[in-house]
Amino acid sequence: MNQPHLTLGALNGDDIGHEIVPASVQVAAAAAEKHGLRIEWKPMPIGRKALDTHGSTLPAGTLETLRTYDGFVLGPIGHRDYPKGPGAINPHPIMRKQFNLYANVRPTRSYPDIGCFRDDVDLVIVCENNEGFQPDRNVVAGSGEFRPSEDMTISVRVITRLGSERVARVALALARSRRKKLTVVHKNTVFKLGCGMFVEECLKAAKDFPDVEVDEVIVDTMAMRLVRDPQNFDVVVTTNMFGDILTDEAAGLVGGLGMAPGLCIGDGDFAMAQATHGSAPDIAGQGIANPYAMMESTRMLLDWLGRRKSVPQAVAAAASMERGLTAALGDAKARTGDIRGKGTTVSFTAAVLANL
Ligand code: ATP
Repeated sequence: MNQPHLTLGALNGDDIGHEIVPASVQVAAAAAEKHGLRIEWKPMPIGRKALDTHGSTLPAGTLETLRTYDGFVLGPIGHRDYPKGPGAINPHPIMRKQFNLYANVRPTRSYPDIGCFRDDVDLVIVCENNEGFQPDRNVVAGSGEFRPSEDMTISVRVITRLGSERVARVALALARSRRKKLTVVHKNTVFKLGCGMFVEECLKAAKDFPDVEVDEVIVDTMAMRLVRDPQNFDVVVTTNMFGDILTDEAAGLVGGLGMAPGLCIGDGDFAMAQATHGSAPDIAGQGIANPYAMMESTRMLLDWLGRRKSVPQAVAAAASMERGLTAALGDAKARTGDIRGKGTTVSFTAAVLANL
């Protein structure tokens, strides 16, 4: 019988990406090997290094090649520090759009002793990924932000029925596999048409999931409730920018950005592991970056691909990674300083590997 097999791109990104992506690949490779899954890793240049070597932060052919794989791991992108000029673009919105990865699944979970504000947070925020307020991705040409006069700027927010419905369905299916509760977050009191449409589509989709209890919370109230009673949320679905803000807030509850993983998914059997945090140039190269978020994103990728493609070995490898990650988080000598540890990226990685 053929050995089960996945082909995955490994794109480091910028700054701490050069530390945490290789570490994530290392633990995923070890977990895969343990369960008889063959992963062919395909390193590809991206970001600042690719600009220097290939003249573009997204070298020609990258998207076409990635499309032939099962998915990929993308490290954080530090586009704000790219030099201005041709070839220096922010690649990740293009990837989300090109591969139609319209849902960004971002879990938040408490672990003991790492500096969480509460010990009982276990929620997932599912953000719409390709429309909303992001001006670099909500139009096919030009920009969703423009300046008609020196003293006026207009930013356009795009909400579609299709975009709203499909992200709602991802969130509802996820809620069905968890505690069967979905919270729709919006501001339809003010954005009567935009958020109004989002809520309408979420509630319509929810009719196909009668076993999932659905409620609604206005986004400003949600910002407060995430701090006061995060334990009451299971799956949350919201529009792009609200989701971006709330996921960072949620990360703050459980130890910070190093604890904020994410998986970008769509309709196909193809996904992108991408942690929520940025490239953290302030700590790059020091060996102190917390690799948890990137490793957990990679674990989510294996689990999701394993389930979508019926590869139980990938699901088992993901379960091994979960054991390793939980043990490493529980080891103060191994875990990094941002989560009350005394360790480094390397010691955390070693602890995960030792506990797969
Ligand atoms: P972006 O807008 O690209 O998401 P950002 O402005 O949110 O980026 P980050 O690069 O995420 O900024 O960094 C914010 C802070 O969090 C920095 O002080 C950084 O060192 C810290 N940080 C981010 N990721 C990690 C990590 N994996 N481990 C430790 N600290 C991190």
